[in-house]
Amino acid sequence: MTIFLATKNRHKIAEIAAIFQKKKYEFQTCWDYPEFSDLEAPETGQTLEENAREKALFWVKRIRLPVISDDTGLFVSSLGGEPGVYSSRFAGLNATYQENVHLLLLKLSGIIERGAYFETVSLLCDPDGREILGRGRLPGRISSKQAGSNGFGYDPVFLPDGYQKTLAELTDAEKNSISHRYLAFMDLASRI
Ligand code: IMP
Repeated sequence: MTIFLATKNRHKIAEIAAIFQKKKYEFQTCWDYPEFSDLEAPETGQTLEENAREKALFWVKRIRLPVISDDTGLFVSSLGGEPGVYSSRFAGLNATYQENVHLLLLKLSGIIERGAYFETVSLLCDPDGREILGRGRLPGRISSKQAGSNGFGYDPVFLPDGYQKTLAELTDAEKNSISHRYLAFMDLASRI
């Protein structure tokens, strides 16, 4: 079976291909379709599932192959689940990772309850309308200051449960073995 991966991120492409290695699928991405390389799928949903579905169906319509998409958010309990589906645009539409992290630390200043989790939804949609969903969650808490330089996004302020280090202080291999994304794709791989 050939599967289209709805991401342009080469790191994610390699990570997903490694997880599905034993399943002997062939993968394509929009790098295989120069005519589509400038297209961006919309993300207008209120939940991770809605966003993942929107992205997958956008590509299913064009490519007519089964598509795997994903969507991730950071959910902070004392902020009522913020930034959630708005994680990439917490501090504004074109916000940088640093601007998002600063806003998060600002909103949490003086707050003792700092529990949070990352969640990823991975979704396989095929041209006949069938869907299979995988989910992965990484529980932890938000530190009061940034530490570490690996990774991206909120990694410098996220302390996974059971670790005294932020995700940005872990090696790639350590992070990838516990990450919400890894768990979501393993969950999906076990269902197809
Ligand atoms: P996406 O759905 O994978 O594009 O993720 C949405 C946003 O969530 C990203 O722009 C990051 O701000 C944040 N994010 C996703 N995954 C991670 C992660 O593994 N570490 C830190 N931040 C992440």
